[in-house]
Amino acid sequence: MNKKYVYLFKEGNASMRNLLGGKGANLCEMTVLGFPVPQGFTISTEACTKYYDDGGKISQEIIDEIFEKLAETEKIAGKKFGDPENPFLVSVRSGARASMPGMMDTILNLGLTDEIVEKFKERTNPRFAYDSYRRFIQMFSDVVMEVPKHNFEVIIDEVKTAKGITNDLDLTADDLKELIVKFKAYFKKVKGFDFPNDPKVQLIESVEAVFRSWNNPRANVYRRMNDIPSSWGTAVNIQAMVFGNMGDNSGTGVAFTRNPSTGEKKLYGEYLINAQGEDVVAGIRTPAPISHLEDEMPEVYKQFVDIATKLEEHYKDMQDMEFTIQEGKLYMLQTRNGKRTAAAALKIAVDLVAEGMVSKEDAILKVDPKQLDSLLHPQFDTAALKAAKPITKGLPASPGAACGKVCFSAEDAMKSAGEGNKVVLVRLETSPEDIEGMNASEGILTARGGMTSHAAVVARGMGTCCVAGCGELKINYAEKYFTVGDVKINEGDYISLDGSTGNVYAGKIATVEATMTGDFGKFMGWADEIRTLKVRTNADTPRDAQQARSFGAEGIGLCRTEHMFFETDRIRSVREMILSENVESREKALAKILPMQKGDFEGLFRVMKGLPVTIRLLDPPLHEFLPNTEEELVELSKEMNVSVDTLKQKCADLHEFNPMMGHRGCRLAVTYPEIARMQTRAIIEAAITVGGDLVPEIMIPLVGDINELKYVKEVVVSTADEVIKNAGVNMTYKVGTMIEIPRAAVTADEIAKEAEFFSFGTNDLTQMTYGFSRDDAGKFLEDYYSKKIFESDPFARLDQNGVGKLVKMAAKLGRETRPDIKLGICGEHGGDPSSVEFCHFAGLNYVSCSPFRVPIARLAAAQARVSEIKGEKNLGQK
Ligand code: PEP
Ligand code: MG
Repeated sequence: MNKKYVYLFKEGNASMRNLLGGKGANLCEMTVLGFPVPQGFTISTEACTKYYDDGGKISQEIIDEIFEKLAETEKIAGKKFGDPENPFLVSVRSGARASMPGMMDTILNLGLTDEIVEKFKERTNPRFAYDSYRRFIQMFSDVVMEVPKHNFEVIIDEVKTAKGITNDLDLTADDLKELIVKFKAYFKKVKGFDFPNDPKVQLIESVEAVFRSWNNPRANVYRRMNDIPSSWGTAVNIQAMVFGNMGDNSGTGVAFTRNPSTGEKKLYGEYLINAQGEDVVAGIRTPAPISHLEDEMPEVYKQFVDIATKLEEHYKDMQDMEFTIQEGKLYMLQTRNGKRTAAAALKIAVDLVAEGMVSKEDAILKVDPKQLDSLLHPQFDTAALKAAKPITKGLPASPGAACGKVCFSAEDAMKSAGEGNKVVLVRLETSPEDIEGMNASEGILTARGGMTSHAAVVARGMGTCCVAGCGELKINYAEKYFTVGDVKINEGDYISLDGSTGNVYAGKIATVEATMTGDFGKFMGWADEIRTLKVRTNADTPRDAQQARSFGAEGIGLCRTEHMFFETDRIRSVREMILSENVESREKALAKILPMQKGDFEGLFRVMKGLPVTIRLLDPPLHEFLPNTEEELVELSKEMNVSVDTLKQKCADLHEFNPMMGHRGCRLAVTYPEIARMQTRAIIEAAITVGGDLVPEIMIPLVGDINELKYVKEVVVSTADEVIKNAGVNMTYKVGTMIEIPRAAVTADEIAKEAEFFSFGTNDLTQMTYGFSRDDAGKFLEDYYSKKIFESDPFARLDQNGVGKLVKMAAKLGRETRPDIKLGICGEHGGDPSSVEFCHFAGLNYVSCSPFRVPIARLAAAQARVSEIKGEKNLGQK
């Protein structure tokens, strides 16, 4: 029997998401539940994968299956595709496993042709029939034939101007008929061939367009941002059309069972009477709140509320639903777990547990760890906000505080952000191609569109502040400014947006730090109860350490001591030390640094109050501490009373062709053991001063051979023991190493003989495993993404198959030698959710990440533990 690629809605269910995509699986589920769903069928994600395997072609076998299922759907509808007397019209929609705004939108009204529309108008009404057809031509041209929709809007505007009208609704049937002729002529002019007039051809071309859209640049960017593998493919949904534009007893809308901005448990949404779905999303007309439907169509409203309640109970999560009312009858076109802001996600998760709807474990899985980031950043200072006067107000589409320089296009926003500016993107409305510019912006302000417009939905998903539908905004793209009444704001001027009220302010407004209270605190408490992986922070200063503590860090996994060397009060002594010609003068310079280092470490130990603190000995090559411009050299020569030529010679001596593989890490301590001695003394003396049960962890970087570790460890141990002995105290400390060179991972059993702990330095481990310079790889990795060689940045998301294999191997070998060895990770990956999950299953004891990623790692660790409990994944090498 042939493989099945196409499923009627009544043949599937919600558990078939991987095969049918989210939209398809839920349409099936709603059908099974007996809700009013216009019937249709789903072409599976496997058909998409096959399309690509076959070199970008739909096989005849799949085409035959599509028409077979179409025939069955025709029977259900009692209409016939392509039959002028009783035409069956369908919609075509993409639907991947995870919802993806970067992909193809919808094609509506497919099945109309010049001939069919003439009959169709008799069965319906002429204005409606022509309007449906012109919409189809516009959508099909745009998404299948790549003739931008906007160009057709220009033609509509010309016709409106000629007729002296401003509103689309005032176009008569004859006007629309004239538009169709103009649209087709324009299509032929641009494409060089006639608009396809065969519904079967239109259908298959639309399906192919959906498959192609899976691979368009926007979709690729979105996938990379959201860790979605390109191997998943998308499904295609073909569904009987229902019409929201059949008059005043028809309409269409979008609603959520809870407020997606705040999480409040109240039906939330909007609708438009006498409209098709695209009108709501495009934000061309401003819709009415869903509550008005109760007055306008009480019966329909009641039925909708009933369905919404049942759907939420069924899916045990907030639902985002699309519906259409055709001549007083309600149809459900979609339901899915709704995208929501981080604050809403937390409130919903906490409320669902309180309502007894889900367990704490399930609630833990409902919040995307990356989303938490938006809650950790500053909010507007209440007093400063009160004192400021808004220049205008739009819809509070996605909360948060944004302050930045105005840009009027996605490209300009990306460029300006790339130059280090904070930007606010200001647009009439946004569309999927703006996604990268939106991502680069602090906030988004649109003149048009409602709470479910593209800008609003995408911004909420990204956790970016957004004020939408700000009708007073008059934007001049050509001259790059906007006005609100008398106020004129030019490109590059600062504005501030309050995404929680919709207020827009000229200039900058002061902000304050965020706090983790209420739902956030409660929810994170559950995460902490569940997770087994500890979360530490990478912090070099007491201030960062304090920040991380407030975010729940359970210790410091990496203190990079070199960052302290750059402080203005000590860089001079550091340079003196580097320029010293002999050990004696080097030690003299180091003696000046010692009290400062000691002070730094005391600060860290105090903030961490007995929690583990890992301090790494100096790591970077020494030339990094020397100036590199002529001006700075001249200044330094005066300051140090050394000739410029001597300084230049020293810089030349320290120059390396490949500094990342050069004289750094433990290699520095081999050449200059006095540096390691000073740092050890500072660590141990600080620990003695602070007292308590402190067990400092001294970490030796960049070890590749057991003998390197042995040598440096001896320097550390002899110094530490001497300090302890002289102080006459009883204290313990640990000496461990970073595993960041492949050779160390491979010989971890030997290394563990000397190391009491391993911390995986996956930044260097990735660099050295791939042989990619961590400083330069960004320049060519873009080509790797666009050519599908890589799906993600291995420096951000751990390469589990390669680098991860080394981590697992080293963990196993290390534990064989020393069963109680403590294992952690302190590369950038320690704060990336998928990498944190990997660390959990690899059996590490902790991850360590920058302070602002601590809550993200805590939640990711809890989610990993929940999947383990649920048996979705097996524990690796624990
Ligand atoms: C690493 O290499 O992963 C690491 C944490 O050290 P650094 O980034 O300082 O080289
Ligand atoms: Mg490193």
